Amino acid sequence: MAEFSFELDDDQKAVRDWIHGFAADVMRPAAAEWDEREETPWPIIQEAAKIGLYSLDFYAQQYFDPTGLGIPMTMEELFWGDAGIALSIVGTGLAAVGVLANGTEEQIGTWIPQMYGDAADVKVAAFCSSEPDAGSDVGSMRTRAVYDEAKDEWVLNGTKTWATNGGIAGVHVVVAVVDPELGSKGHASFIVPPGTPGLSQGQKFKKHGIRASHTAEVVLDQVRVPGSCLLGGKEKLDERLARARERAKSGGERLKNAAMATFEASRPAVGAMAVGTARAAYEVALDYAKTRQQFGRPIIDNQGVAFQLADMRTRIDAARLMVWRASWMAVNGRPFESAEGSMSKLFASETAKQVTAQAVQILGGNGFTREYPVERMHRDAAIYTIFEGTSEIQRLVIARTLSGVPIR
Ligand SMILES: Cc1cc2nc3c(=O)[nH]c(=O)nc-3n(C[C@H](O)[C@H](O)[C@H](O)COP(=O)(O)OP(=O)(O)OC[C@H]3O[C@@H](n4cnc5c(N)ncnc54)[C@H](O)[C@@H]3O)c2cc1C
Repeated sequence: MAEFSFELDDDQKAVRDWIHGFAADVMRPAAAEWDEREETPWPIIQEAAKIGLYSLDFYAQQYFDPTGLGIPMTMEELFWGDAGIALSIVGTGLAAVGVLANGTEEQIGTWIPQMYGDAADVKVAAFCSSEPDAGSDVGSMRTRAVYDEAKDEWVLNGTKTWATNGGIAGVHVVVAVVDPELGSKGHASFIVPPGTPGLSQGQKFKKHGIRASHTAEVVLDQVRVPGSCLLGGKEKLDERLARARERAKSGGERLKNAAMATFEASRPAVGAMAVGTARAAYEVALDYAKTRQQFGRPIIDNQGVAFQLADMRTRIDAARLMVWRASWMAVNGRPFESAEGSMSKLFASETAKQVTAQAVQILGGNGFTREYPVERMHRDAAIYTIFEGTSEIQRLVIARTLSGVPIR
């Protein structure tokens, strides 16, 4: 197990600076344009692929970094560059983590490389769990997967919503109900390979923020996938369902469902995204406060402004520490006994919302216009308290974990 350290080593610093360079030189100058276009910034994903920043190798290296700092450092720098473009670059990772969390070694080796494609033919992937009537309440999921034993195929039907990269992805990872009696314990995840008939994109959403990231419905109409596309395999699923039925009978211990395993692993990463956006807005506000003159002096000369900046920076640093701790724990197999993953996501996402709002305030009228980036950062920050479990759901997880009481 790696010792926990607050110090990046020389290699990590070099990687951080390299990502920062891409964020500053390629992402930042393009951020406003892609936000207005509300389209996936394919040329920027391709640029990232060319230099190896959008690649399975790079993410695997960061994901398995034993210090736990590889992923949060990467996320913070990319989202410092621009949240919408960054989500287009890292959205594939959520699907990849879905396969890593639930798949066999063979499935991991087969599907994750296809999710990224290569620099000459870049692909993205999508993770589809949410449905119109099943957001926070994952147990209400209706998308059904039925096993056709004669053909060793699964047949998927249903509608997914709010899927990042949904419909434009090559590989889709779809969570579906295999045993409706078991609620969220009767779910399983499936690979839907590129070009599978019956999968189509529904509505593409026009959004408040992260507008360069594609978010859409995914419709599954008699989608047939081979038995080998069930993540983890049939034997493991049958064993898991049998255990869940036993426990349901005896009212015993709760089991994690497939989607939750994905979300738990990725929550600190979302916290790191939020830290990146918050830091970006804070830096703009600090510079502005030092140069903007009112009443014959820079506005930072007023405690009312300077103290806000002090609070912003303090919260950002605290958020980063919580994210780093949770990432280190996750990578080193330490259980989140006090819901540290959820705590980090809750605190960092609320920090991003608060800090970006303060940045808009410090820039005054300019902060309210699209002439300055804090307006976009403020819109972008609103997503962090919503996706991968809202702030209220994080508080539920934390409160239940700490108390052992099934708080509603
Ligand atoms: C831009 C974007 C990208 C997304 N990407 C993906 C993706 O790639 N894949 C995917 O599967 N999903 C994705 N999502 C979906 C996202 O995870 C859900 O929006 C989120 O889980 C919340 O679900 P909901 O929108 O249905 O809200 P609801 O569950 O309807 O919640 C509405 C409000 O009620 C509150 N609430 C609900 N239940 C409780 C409770 N028990 N106690 C207290 N408060 C409660 C919530 O906190 C929230 O404030 C994405 C969403 C967005 C907006």
